[in-house]
Amino acid sequence: MCGIAGYVGGENAKDVLLNALTCLEYRGYDSAGIAVLNNSTLMVRKAKGSVDNLVALAEGLQGNIGIGHTRWATHGKPSDVNAHPHISGSVAVVHNGILHNYSELKARLESEGYEFISETDTEVLAHLIHYYIQKGNSLVGAVRSAVGDVVGSYAICALYGGEPTTIVAARSESPLVIGKGVGGNLIASDIPALLQYTREVVYVEDGEVVVLTKNKASIMKLDGTSVIRESVKVEWDAKAAEKAGYPHFMLKEIHEQPKAIEETYSGRLTLLDGTDLSDTWNDDELLEQVRRIIFIGCGSSYNAALFGKYVIEDICQLPAEVYFASEFNYPPMALDESTLVVALSQSGETADTLKAIRLAESIGVPTLAITNVVGSTITRHANFVLYTRGGPEIDVAATKTFSMQTVALLMLAMQLARIKKTLPKEELIHYSQSLKSIPSLIKQVIELEEMLSDVA
Ligand code: GLU
Repeated sequence: MCGIAGYVGGENAKDVLLNALTCLEYRGYDSAGIAVLNNSTLMVRKAKGSVDNLVALAEGLQGNIGIGHTRWATHGKPSDVNAHPHISGSVAVVHNGILHNYSELKARLESEGYEFISETDTEVLAHLIHYYIQKGNSLVGAVRSAVGDVVGSYAICALYGGEPTTIVAARSESPLVIGKGVGGNLIASDIPALLQYTREVVYVEDGEVVVLTKNKASIMKLDGTSVIRESVKVEWDAKAAEKAGYPHFMLKEIHEQPKAIEETYSGRLTLLDGTDLSDTWNDDELLEQVRRIIFIGCGSSYNAALFGKYVIEDICQLPAEVYFASEFNYPPMALDESTLVVALSQSGETADTLKAIRLAESIGVPTLAITNVVGSTITRHANFVLYTRGGPEIDVAATKTFSMQTVALLMLAMQLARIKKTLPKEELIHYSQSLKSIPSLIKQVIELEEMLSDVA
């Protein structure tokens, strides 16, 4: 999850965007960046860290049109070069989401002579849009062709030096909302980013492309058919808006579970044999050698691990134990390479869990971290990492994190069951299909909210 924003109008774009990004920082805060056009000259400032870092860097930028981003990394660590916007020629792109076929697209673009400098999936979009512009398309035509090539989730904003009065945005499975102002227009991932500027908003839907100029915001479908949608007036105050209208973050995150779970399994389930965790490891041999699993975690991660133990014992027929990370500092058992130590931590920074994984590391047993935060400390101490990818969880009491961890653990068990042949292929495929129905089942439960609240 990230926050994206775009502005075109009479103000200095840098100031509007920095305000917008500050309101979006809850969506991603490992790096931030902006790109501004002054006539046709593209100026980009981006860096690892918070929007505060960017404020100093962006000092002196002038221009009435620009795009911005706060990142929550999914592909590639938080770093200056991985921060958005990504650039190709005078094309700049910010992206919220995950492009599942980015390796194929990257290979295609490399064969066309494009060079990649970041580890992100997003960089392919910048080059793809540039590629289609070189083929004679306008910015909007190039964006339509580029998003037509990608498989995955995205909300993007693109700028191009050759068309210095237009921002083009597009959406599929990641939020995007237009803010219609006087003397300018904004677009962003979420309403709080718009509220300092306007309360007139238009929601963008999946499969739509937006062309934003100072005086106009037009929406079209991917095939170019125009879409007419009325704006709505937002009544929330800015504080409530930060939580997307929910009274508190916990409720917001409960509602985010269907999407968060989809992100966890996305690209990792196959109808061929159940799971494909090749983004975590390519070493089936290592899993073949595993004879025992030890889970470590604190709080709700510990509780998710109890589900892990159950499912590993059930479908992989392997012994599994669960330890509070604090207890694991004095492991009572001998550990060897046939033991896989699996550490769970939402943030990847839980002190006791880190201590435990370092201990496992020093003994030399294979370790797997299940975490939500790319580049967090735990990922540097584990041999393998399975990211849950569901965006930041602000509330201290875990909700969507717990759900994502159980899905990750089930996929781990399915992968082991496949390698150890403890479940027939048909059953693994059935598991994989069932997993895909969970988001809609959760939605059905969430719809009972009022009744559940009465019962409570
Ligand atoms: N996949 C992109 C990246 O890693 C965007 C991140 C996101 O939206 O979560 O940079």
